[in-house]
Amino acid sequence: MAAIRILPEYLINQIAAGEVVERPASVVKELVENALDAGADMIVIDVTDGGRGLISIIDNGCGMSRIDLEKSIMRHATSKLQTDDLLNINTMGFRGEALPSIASVSDMTIDTCRMGESGLVLDCSTGRIKPSAWESGTRIRVENLFAKTPARLKFLRADRAEMMSVVEVVKRLALSRPDVGFILNNKWRFPKNQPLMERVIAVMGEDTQGRMIELDTVDSGATLRLSGFISEPTLRRASSIDQYLFVNGRIVKDKVLNTALRASYMDVMSAREFPLCALYLELPAREVDVNVHPAKTEVHFLEPARVRSFIIRTIRDALSRTMIPGMSAENFSSEKIQNNSPLFIREPENFIRGLELWGSDSKSDINYVGANENSPTGVRNDERANYHTTKSTISSGPGFHSPLQDFPLGRAIGQIGNKYIIAENASGMVIVDQHAAHERITYERLRARELKRQPLLVPAIIKLKPEEVSAIIEIREELDACGLKIDEFGDDSVAIYERPADWEMDWAAMLRAVAQEVGAHSHSSKLVEKLHLKLANYACHHSVRAGQKLDYAQMDALLRDIENTERSGQCNHGRPVYKIIKISELDSWFERV
Ligand code: ADP
Ligand code: MG
Repeated sequence: MAAIRILPEYLINQIAAGEVVERPASVVKELVENALDAGADMIVIDVTDGGRGLISIIDNGCGMSRIDLEKSIMRHATSKLQTDDLLNINTMGFRGEALPSIASVSDMTIDTCRMGESGLVLDCSTGRIKPSAWESGTRIRVENLFAKTPARLKFLRADRAEMMSVVEVVKRLALSRPDVGFILNNKWRFPKNQPLMERVIAVMGEDTQGRMIELDTVDSGATLRLSGFISEPTLRRASSIDQYLFVNGRIVKDKVLNTALRASYMDVMSAREFPLCALYLELPAREVDVNVHPAKTEVHFLEPARVRSFIIRTIRDALSRTMIPGMSAENFSSEKIQNNSPLFIREPENFIRGLELWGSDSKSDINYVGANENSPTGVRNDERANYHTTKSTISSGPGFHSPLQDFPLGRAIGQIGNKYIIAENASGMVIVDQHAAHERITYERLRARELKRQPLLVPAIIKLKPEEVSAIIEIREELDACGLKIDEFGDDSVAIYERPADWEMDWAAMLRAVAQEVGAHSHSSKLVEKLHLKLANYACHHSVRAGQKLDYAQMDALLRDIENTERSGQCNHGRPVYKIIKISELDSWFERV
């Protein structure tokens, strides 16, 4: 073997650059983060030829003194770690690597001016500093990126593709700081102090308008806070492109957050679709390690399980509020409806009879039954009579106002194509997809029912690897909630004592899959997902079909049930359940404005 050689400084920097600056977009990210750390509230970015020609970043931050300017391109030189505490980082940067790395793979110049001092320019190739006419803040120009490292240059994609990555990074940065103004190539403009929802629309597109749910929750220990916007389940993308996650203001790619987001939407969206979000998690700097990866996009949480369950709880809570407009939990608690309205139809007692899994033995057919003669709906006969009288008065004149109209989804007027229910409420016309609606109702009720468990006379012993055993035991409680009672059985086996009744599956394979997921993400949603899938399929097959004729009472009963169902805005597959068309919109159709 050849003798050991201590590498020259420029080579060390080029090696570091391999990690920090992968492509033009990463240069933009590092330089904009520096501008943010310098306190800038306006950042102007120009990128030509996908970043190969020029990357220029101008900020109105604090600028640098002569001494700092000289040090700024030295390796491991930073103004951001004033103590040696790596667990108390409150800036974007802290590694002192970006400027020397970028300088080593490009031709870079820095113009800067600290308040009260005069302007300076540093030519990073020569290290020479000269006076400049620069008056405030900093401008960094990066030219001929990777020209000195042809291998890296070869890996760059077409200019247009690189530019798309740059736009993507700038969008992420823009969402991370709505208080700061950003301009990219004079084309993408985000004004400073933009309200967050406006910035969400600017970044994710017009279709988010009015369809994002705001949330802001602090956990009981008051150390975690999650705020921002998530999409209604009917608004979704085919990829995770519009998922923006920030931890203490930092753009992150994090498995804990991603799996939590996915788990939160599990029963309102298929796994192949992706909700949109701009979510901001804040927690004490000491509870998250940001020094995991040179690009600083990965983090480690001190207590990942706590973070995950807080996020899932918060998002699910926000999603369960996606109800009908005007129907806040207080105004329309089921109790109130029950008391105030003779027409409230309670859950039919035998609604889900026949569901062996959920603890009933009868196998009676499940039909949607509303206020039918022989249906156990809880509507008394006199009430029904009242209802029919009401109905007959409907035709008695245009001035008639049915009390049913005051319900969020109004009163049924008819059915179209034996598929859609048309109703009228106070604001206009309501169209309901009867199958989607019923499916959601059935599903939510199944979920609310207790799972029937089946104790095993002889415990089933399943042989696993020791690390799989500990993974399974780690999430024993979660499994228990799915009806699976499990315990250790020696070092390399687990014993199943109880399992969900009438649910045949290859439990050994399932547990192995669960263990692997726990190993990789310290969490597994496989079993819960399976369980939900089973519920969803059941709900789908036992719901009124499209094509089934319903009478008025059945339609009204269905409308009332939707109003009383959580997450009623969409079916289990994420399709919308109803649409409301305002009178004003109808007016505009007929040019009655
Ligand atoms: P880090 O950001 O990790 O400190 P960098 O190499 O990115 O490392 O930057 C080195 C130092 O240069 C920073 O700590 C900061 O003091 C200074 N600096 C870089 N960019 C700017 C800027 N736009 N305005 C003011 N100071 C800057
Ligand atoms: Mg930096």
